[in-house]
Amino acid sequence: MVTGGSRGIGRAICLALADMGLPIFVNYQKNQQEAEATCALIVEAGGKAVPVAAQVGNPEDVQRMFDFIREQNCWVHTLVNNAGIVADAMAATMSHQQWQSVISTNLDGTFHCTRAALSSMTVRKTGCIVNIASVSSIKAQPGQINYAASKAGVMAMTRVLSKEVGRYGVRVNAIAPGFVQTDMLDELVRSDKGRTMLEHATKQMIALGRAGKPEEIGAVAHFLCSPAASYITGQTLVVDGGLSV
Ligand code: NAP
Repeated sequence: MVTGGSRGIGRAICLALADMGLPIFVNYQKNQQEAEATCALIVEAGGKAVPVAAQVGNPEDVQRMFDFIREQNCWVHTLVNNAGIVADAMAATMSHQQWQSVISTNLDGTFHCTRAALSSMTVRKTGCIVNIASVSSIKAQPGQINYAASKAGVMAMTRVLSKEVGRYGVRVNAIAPGFVQTDMLDELVRSDKGRTMLEHATKQMIALGRAGKPEEIGAVAHFLCSPAASYITGQTLVVDGGLSV
């Protein structure tokens, strides 16, 4: 299962995982059409896919999604917690709603999906979880106190969970992307401040001098979910073109 698989990085991860021989449940919140488009691309690439709606910040919704998967006689072997949002504002003017919505989707959502997936993995003594964090939790970005806190939490959860479930053959890792060309980045550059920040970052801070492509995150997720990463757990791989070094 890939949460937030309808667009952007999530879609690229779905396509990267299409060759692993498992049907992919493509979670989305609102964009059914885009989720179906992701599924069509997976099928075109030779895989199997099913779209499944759920608001990951809502535990009942997540439970319904996992019940639906069970009704298909399936269980989640590989979970990619990718669904995420931003709601930027300086801390002094950030509303409770901006704080809460980001924590709910990015941090609570990762917990709800992880908890729902874990029992099937531990009983079968195999499984893999990849959490999508962000370099924003490592390299401070003004206006992202909510986002940075949520993603730092995701990285901490990754470490703790790896210790809890390693003995059951379940690996847990995270990817911390830098700037990646998706709708989320488009949202950032809609404001003058965001555009200036991105131009500055691209020229002055990113060693490779460009934003990343979603498929460059998909390739790393594929690696972490594959047997090639069988001795890697509890780690966060930074994939940011050299932004944070
Ligand atoms: P995006 O293009 O905005 O796509 C967001 C995805 O998350 C969509 O599939 C959306 O579903 C889904 N989603 C949002 N809220 C949800 C919820 N409550 N429940 C279920 N699904 C939800 O974002 P992206 O840039 O691909 O980002 C993907 C992940 O990478 C996020 O965790 C983000 O924080 C992280 N990341 C992104 C960047 C970047 O520069 N783009 C950098 C670092 C980390 P709908 O289509 O139904 O709305």
